[in-house]
Amino acid sequence: MGKILKVDKVYKYFGGVKANENISLAVEEGSIVGLIGPNGSGKTTLFNSIVGTHPIDEGSIQFEGKEVSELPVPVVAKLGLLRTFQQTRIYGKLNCVQNMLISAKPEKDNIFSMFAKIPEELTAKSENLLNFVGLYQKRKLRAGDLSFGQQKLLELAMALMNEPKMLLLDEPTAGINPTLINGIIDRLVTINKEYGITLFVIEHNMRVIMNLAQKIFCLAHGQLLAEGEPEQIKNDKRVIDAYLGAQ
Ligand code: ADP
Ligand code: MG
Repeated sequence: MGKILKVDKVYKYFGGVKANENISLAVEEGSIVGLIGPNGSGKTTLFNSIVGTHPIDEGSIQFEGKEVSELPVPVVAKLGLLRTFQQTRIYGKLNCVQNMLISAKPEKDNIFSMFAKIPEELTAKSENLLNFVGLYQKRKLRAGDLSFGQQKLLELAMALMNEPKMLLLDEPTAGINPTLINGIIDRLVTINKEYGITLFVIEHNMRVIMNLAQKIFCLAHGQLLAEGEPEQIKNDKRVIDAYLGAQ
């Protein structure tokens, strides 16, 4: 398997803040990789840079060999590279199925596709995915009435609607009831193994990321501090110091 994502010497500044500085990393196709680091170390910024939320100041980002650093979010998404958010982005007043339908990209890129009748297969696909994340029974409920954990599962299902090749997940278990965490982990493993989707996961819960990822990157102060297998990272003095230093 080759590298599905290559980040090369990426810099992103916010005024005087070096949010990402000279970051180079590569992600193996079909793998699950983790991104850790203290608060403010630049993890979310890196995800934003990769999916095109903001332009980078220097460097290159290649997805499947194609330069994507100049492309806007919807174009990157169409190539199969999608993200979820630290704070969920759902439509609280709409029900779960409606949220799913809204997140499906139109078949054709023209204004009329917005008014097209919703094909039954799209509704069926929505319901199948809601079933996959355990929300089938709640499909007619307003998304705003779901628990935070259930909203995260809905957001995951919404991302899957577009059949991504790679998903970037920003703290998928943060703020979630411990009983739901295992459910989310199981789904992520299934998404990876059965759907073949490459996963890049920002995660604060060390137990979760150590079990989930085959490889972990650690950021500190906007720079890549360490990379390696979970066992290596767990015992890396620089990583331990970065976390202890941040507390
Ligand atoms: P993490 O996700 O690792 O907690 P972030 O990527 O959110 O870190 O933030 C990295 C640094 O960049 C922080 O100092 C943060 O304040 C700054 N930053 C992030 N986004 C913005 C923004 N839109 N405008 C200004 N500063 C930002
Ligand atoms: Mg963040």
